[in-house]
Amino acid sequence: MTQRIWKAALVCAVLAMGSLSLSAQQVRQDNNDDDLAPTGKGWGERQVHSQANKARPRANNGISYHGGPIMSATKNVYYIWYGNWSNNSATTILTDFANSIGGSPYFNINTTYNNGGSTVVSNSVAYKGSTTDNYTYGTSLSDSQIQSVVANAISSGRVTKDTNAVYFVLTSSDVTASSGFCTQYCGWHTHATISGSDIKFSFVGNPDRCPSACEAQTTSPNGNAGADGMASIIAHELEEAATDPDLNAWYDNRGYENADKCAWTFGTQSTAGNGSKYNVTLGSRQYLIQQNWVNASGGYCAMSY
Ligand SMILES: [Zn+2]
Repeated sequence: MTQRIWKAALVCAVLAMGSLSLSAQQVRQDNNDDDLAPTGKGWGERQVHSQANKARPRANNGISYHGGPIMSATKNVYYIWYGNWSNNSATTILTDFANSIGGSPYFNINTTYNNGGSTVVSNSVAYKGSTTDNYTYGTSLSDSQIQSVVANAISSGRVTKDTNAVYFVLTSSDVTASSGFCTQYCGWHTHATISGSDIKFSFVGNPDRCPSACEAQTTSPNGNAGADGMASIIAHELEEAATDPDLNAWYDNRGYENADKCAWTFGTQSTAGNGSKYNVTLGSRQYLIQQNWVNASGGYCAMSY
C-alpha cells in the first residue's frame, strides 16, 4: 500500500502475519462499509472517502482503481546507500538489478494497470544514479528521517529532483527503521512533497539484519543473501509505486497493492549452481523475486505477462 510495503511476503508469512491480520480485521470491524486504503506498510487503514469521489470502484480482477495517478512514463530509479556499504557486493548486484528489470516479462505485468482510461503503466525502468549518506541520522531512522535522507540528497544536488522517479533509501545491516523494520515490514514506499514536488520514495533495509523475517533464503543466487533479499523487496516496492505512487490508485478492498497480493510467493523455481533457488534471469544474473498480481483474466499472481 502505500506506504510501506511490508516486506512482505515472506515476512508476512513468517513474522508479521499475526499482527497484520489482527490489524486489518480490527479496522474492518470498525466500519464494514468502507474500503481499506493502503498504508504502504502492507496493511489497510480505513479510507476516508471524499464527497466528490463516491463512485464505487470496479474490482473485476481482484484489485480496483481509486482515481489517483499512475506512473505511466519511464520509472527512473535512484539509490541512496545509507550507512556502510563498503566492500559489499550489494552495490553491484542491485545496480545490475535496476538496470535489467525494465522491459522484462516480469515488469510487463504492470502494463495491465491503467489510469481508468487508455494510459497504462509502461514497461520501462531506467537506473539514473546513486549517492551515499554516511549515517546523517545515526543507526535508527524514523519515517521522517528517512524522508529527510531523500530530501537532503535532492536539495544538495547529489541526485536530480525527478517526479518520474522512485528514490530508494537502502540501509546497511547495522541500521534499523524505528517504525518496524524486521518486525512489521521489510520495506515500504510512500510519497511526500519535497522541494515543492510530489516525490516518490521507498525504504528497503538490509535483511541480513533479520534473515528469518526478510530473506527468502540464506544462500542466494548472487552469493549475497542480504542483497538478493533486497532485490525482491525493491521489485515489490517499485511495482507498487508504479501502479499506486500516491496511495490512491490501484489497491484492493483490504488495502493491498498489486505486490502485496503476491508477497512471499515465488512460483516455479530452479536451482542455481550454489544450491540456492531462483525464479528469474534478468541481464546476466539470476534472482529469486516475488510474483506480482496480473490485473487481467480475473487476476492472478505470476512472474511474467
Ligand atoms: Zn506492498
